[in-house]
Amino acid sequence: MAVPTQVKLDARRLRADFPIFGEQIHSKPLAYLDSASSAQKPRQVLDAMREFYETSYANVHRGVYTLAVRSDERYEAARETARGFVNASSPREIIFTRGATEGLNLVAYAWGLANLGPGDVVLVTELDHHSNFVPWQFIAQRTGAAFRVLPIDDAGELQLDALDEMSASGTVKVVACNFVSNTLGTINPVERLAGWAHDQGAILVVDAAQAAPHVVVDVQALGCDFLALSSHKLCGPTGAGVLWGRRELLEAMPPFNLGGSMIRSVSAAKTTWNELPYKFEAGTPAIGEVVGMAEAMSYISAAGLDAIARHEHELLEHALDRLSEVPGITLYGPSPERRAGIVSFNLDGIHPHDVAQVLDWEGVAVRAGHHCTQPLMTKLGVAATTRASFYVYSIPEEVDRLVAGLHKVKRSLG
Ligand code: PMP
Repeated sequence: MAVPTQVKLDARRLRADFPIFGEQIHSKPLAYLDSASSAQKPRQVLDAMREFYETSYANVHRGVYTLAVRSDERYEAARETARGFVNASSPREIIFTRGATEGLNLVAYAWGLANLGPGDVVLVTELDHHSNFVPWQFIAQRTGAAFRVLPIDDAGELQLDALDEMSASGTVKVVACNFVSNTLGTINPVERLAGWAHDQGAILVVDAAQAAPHVVVDVQALGCDFLALSSHKLCGPTGAGVLWGRRELLEAMPPFNLGGSMIRSVSAAKTTWNELPYKFEAGTPAIGEVVGMAEAMSYISAAGLDAIARHEHELLEHALDRLSEVPGITLYGPSPERRAGIVSFNLDGIHPHDVAQVLDWEGVAVRAGHHCTQPLMTKLGVAATTRASFYVYSIPEEVDRLVAGLHKVKRSLG
């Protein structure tokens, strides 16, 4: 019997799909190591959006004319693609948003304001992005619920043995965490958190902004209750995203944004809400962007999420190996098998912004800053890090150029 072989990602072939790599930066080829901030866009996504606008664009859910129906069909086909992408059981559970931030705010406001009060506990983690941390902190303050933060250990992994102590101060109603940390790359044990949250009678809200581009996201296997992602991180356009929620929770929740499309009937005496998912899609949505997002989901699914994860893992090992040669470097984050393709580091005595500036002169794009994770920076005892992150189009030469650039940084600023 033939042994199934794992399909290897052909990053060089995929890279040719991304027109941006034709650009020269300071007369050098672009080494793009900032995909954790936003991914570049393949021609297939750009073409799909152009073709949609040129042949099928009209507003959705309003018109009966041919073009309007065509636009509706494309928009709802995108919902089906998104349903398949996260393995939701129904397209009614797929809410199109402007991105992960909007999806997480939607849950915090619509579910949180209706369900939280004094005596309740809202639990987030030290690894969370501000977009999952701050809305829950704010809604906890508004409702009188306690706000607790699950700490991480020195390797950058959640301290799950502290969970029970977190529940001592009240009834845990919400656990909110990211699936993959955008700063350290840590892959969090979402299934275990879901089990613990449900034992407390709490819901689990997953920020999958950094996970969805890189690992298979299966909401049914994860056992979570809400999950948010952004299109722009997975090679799609900006301004679109998905919030998945369990149908019974979405049905019971009041709306978040109010206006056109989300109503069933409106009168001065009473307004009633549209059915799912439209109850949560007020106003004209980002139609062309949603079409582009669906194309991006198809693109990365065709490349294979498992193959993407293995490719990034190889680059990560290469990067950790090569970066450890750089004198005075501090590398943050767990062991390679516990994380996605992200490396955060600091060089002794050199500010990350200066590191990123010198690297830019070499055509190497990295992110410097707190990465919207200030509580994590506090834990690490730094104000900022430099972060390199990989994706489908990343190649080992880019890592080598990063390392060569860091030697130059040391020579000029060290
Ligand atoms: N969560 C994580 C883990 C992220 O990396 C990001 C984007 N940096 C967000 C949430 C917010 O996503 P967006 O800006 O697309 O709303």
